[in-house]
Amino acid sequence: MADPRLPAWPALDVECGAAPPALAEVADRLALALDDLDVTAVDPAHDGRWRVFFTTGPARDAARMALARAFPRDLTLTAVDVPDEGWAIKVQAALGPVQVGRIVVRPPWDAGAARRLPGEQPAAGSADLIAIVIEPSMGFGTGHHQSTRLCLRLLQRLDLAGRHLLDVGTGSGVLAIAAARLGAARAVAIDNDPDAVAAARDNARRNGVDHVVEVRLADVGSLRDRVTRREGERPDDPWAERAEVVVANLTASVIRALREPLVSLVPPGGWLVAGGFTVDQVPLVEEALAPLRVQVREDEDDWVGLALQRAPGHPSQA
Ligand code: SAH
Repeated sequence: MADPRLPAWPALDVECGAAPPALAEVADRLALALDDLDVTAVDPAHDGRWRVFFTTGPARDAARMALARAFPRDLTLTAVDVPDEGWAIKVQAALGPVQVGRIVVRPPWDAGAARRLPGEQPAAGSADLIAIVIEPSMGFGTGHHQSTRLCLRLLQRLDLAGRHLLDVGTGSGVLAIAAARLGAARAVAIDNDPDAVAAARDNARRNGVDHVVEVRLADVGSLRDRVTRREGERPDDPWAERAEVVVANLTASVIRALREPLVSLVPPGGWLVAGGFTVDQVPLVEEALAPLRVQVREDEDDWVGLALQRAPGHPSQA
């Protein structure tokens, strides 16, 4: 069945019941008529059938009326919406790889390409580039959104070597995978969307970090249960350990709604990397995440990413 989330092209199936040579005459007249309509592509005739594509539904509907008037007896016209299954892949192919500091996020078909793109330079003073391969899919996070890039930038400003990280709303897994490649010892990545979880697992394996990145289907709301444990109580599940770095590329409203678990997850001296909001929402996000203090801010267009820290020695409960 067609996936309703994918875009579809408005098209018209045109059928002519006539036999040759009358069919050839209708085909000629049809070609002329299509020249005057807002057509993007025509799938060639098979036994008197054509599929004609349009840029918009209204253009298709107008063409249908025009053809019905011009060919009152010869043609059967059926409007169809043809799903474009290759859409995400085409978008990524069109956009290509994305470089953020030392990190380059690439689609799989680009991974074998020369390690450095023409004109692509490692950031001044940095070591070599880190290539991350992300399969475009329904899991958000190909590096083509500002908020993902802001979080990637902030992760590179923290020292992740040997650290434990929790990626809340992992999507494609891009941030957890980047953390692993930047030296994190362990990254637990959660998402409440099963498609994202499957994509993140595939991507972790593809990048050879599935021994570091553990992907779980979970809602951020369930983190509440983790932080209500009494201080010192051993979690029955190792993923409930506190991470030294929490990364949450969500939205301002989700961050606000989940401020309590998010803030409580950050231990003294630990970090929360937050993204997914715009300049005008920064005061709301900062207020929600107190007592964590903004230490690093990155901006791109209207989007903002913040690295907030809990003061060393500050009690960890919000
Ligand atoms: N971390 C990726 C994806 C961010 S998109 C990146 O930075 O590019 C936000 C992700 O959060 C989506 O995959 C969405 O499914 C997930 N998400 C949203 N609300 C959530 C919730 N309440 N619990 C868990 N995941 C959630």
